[in-house]
Amino acid sequence: MSNFVESRGDWYCIVCNYQTNGRAWSHGLGISSDQRVVKSQRTVGQCSRCGHIQVLLTAAWRRETASLYDSYKAYALSEGKEQKVFSSDTTPPTLRSEKLVLRLLQEVGRGARWLDFGAGDGTLLSTIAHHDASAHLEAFDVSDHNKDEVEARCDLKKFHSNLAEIETGFDVIVLSHVLEHLQDPIEEALQLSHLLKTQGLIAIQVPNLEKNPFDMLVFDHVSHFTPRTLEIFASRLTSSFEINVDLYPKEIVALLTFAEQKLRAPHDVLPTSNHGRVLPVHEVVLRLDAAAASALTAKQSASTLGVFGTSTAAVWCAELFDGSFDFWVDEDESRIGKAFMGLPVVAPDSIPARSLVVVPFVETLASRLANRLISESSGSLLAIV
Ligand SMILES: [Zn+2]
Repeated sequence: MSNFVESRGDWYCIVCNYQTNGRAWSHGLGISSDQRVVKSQRTVGQCSRCGHIQVLLTAAWRRETASLYDSYKAYALSEGKEQKVFSSDTTPPTLRSEKLVLRLLQEVGRGARWLDFGAGDGTLLSTIAHHDASAHLEAFDVSDHNKDEVEARCDLKKFHSNLAEIETGFDVIVLSHVLEHLQDPIEEALQLSHLLKTQGLIAIQVPNLEKNPFDMLVFDHVSHFTPRTLEIFASRLTSSFEINVDLYPKEIVALLTFAEQKLRAPHDVLPTSNHGRVLPVHEVVLRLDAAAASALTAKQSASTLGVFGTSTAAVWCAELFDGSFDFWVDEDESRIGKAFMGLPVVAPDSIPARSLVVVPFVETLASRLANRLISESSGSLLAIV
C-alpha cells in the first residue's frame, strides 16, 4: 500500500563499517527534503550488525539526488521562513532552530566561535546572532548560491565552500539536518572534529525515524537515524556524547565533545545502549502501509477532503490521493492563503463544514492537534498514523 517492496541487497554500512546483506525495502514514490514528489526507485536497507537504516548508494540514486540538489529550495512554500515546531496544545510554536541554539548557548556561552556546517539560507546563524550578538559566526555550504542571503541575515565573519580552507579553533560546529544527507558521515564528522578547540562541541540534529516513520520516504536522506543508531554513530567518534530526544518531538539532538584524543579508530564493539532497542525497518514499513490504507479509506467516505500540513507526510498523502482532494490545512501563517501543488492552503478555523481532514502526523501530535483544533472547526480530523 505504501509502495515498499521487500528486497535484499549487499552494501557497506556507513555507520559501523560492516559489509552487510540484510533486509532491504525498495520504493518508487519518494518525497525530496524540499517536498517535491520523486518517482524514482530507491532501496533502504538495515545493517544486520548495528541496525543502521540507510539508502543503498546506487549510481541511479546518486544521479537523481545530485539533480534534486541542483534545484534545491528549502522551505519554498514559506518563502525562506523557517518551519515552526508545533509541539503541544499549550505552548506557542517556536522556530525550529531556536531550541537548539538556546541549548547550545548553555554549553558554549556568549562570544563563542560557531561554524554552521550546511548553513542553507542562514536561518540557524540568524537565530544565533539574535540570541548572542557577540557570537563569532562562520558558515559552510557546498554551494555558495545562498552566500549573499546568509551575509544579509547576520554579521557573518566568513562563508566557506571548501573545508580544507577553514581555520581551526571552533567552540561549536552545528550540523542541523545535514548528517542524514551525508554519504560518508563518519569521515566528514571526523574532519570537522579536527576544526574544534580542545573540549569543543559538535552538535547534530536529525529526524527521529522512531517518532516519524514518514522520514523513510525522504528520497535524499542517506540515513534514517534512531536514538540507538545515532548513539552508535557518536560512539565511533568520541566517548563523550549526549543523545537528547526531549528537545524536539520528532527529532534527535546529539552533542559530541572532543577532549585531547580527537580520533577514535573504527572499532567492532558496539556500545551498550541507553537508547532503546534497534528499530526493525519492517515495522516502519508496516506503519506506513497502515497509514496509506487509512488515508485511502478516508478518501472514499469524504465528500470534501483536506490534508493537514504541507510536510513530507502531507505531500505523500496528496500523491496517494493522486491530487484528487480539495484543500490543505496549515497552522503556519506564512503558508495560509497560498496555493500549494495547485490547491489552497486554509487555516484550521477555515476548514469547510462537513469536510474530512486527514492528519498524517504521529498519533500523539495528531491527537493533541485534534483536541486543540476540533472546537475551532466544523470539519472533522482523522489521524492516520
Ligand atoms: Zn552497521
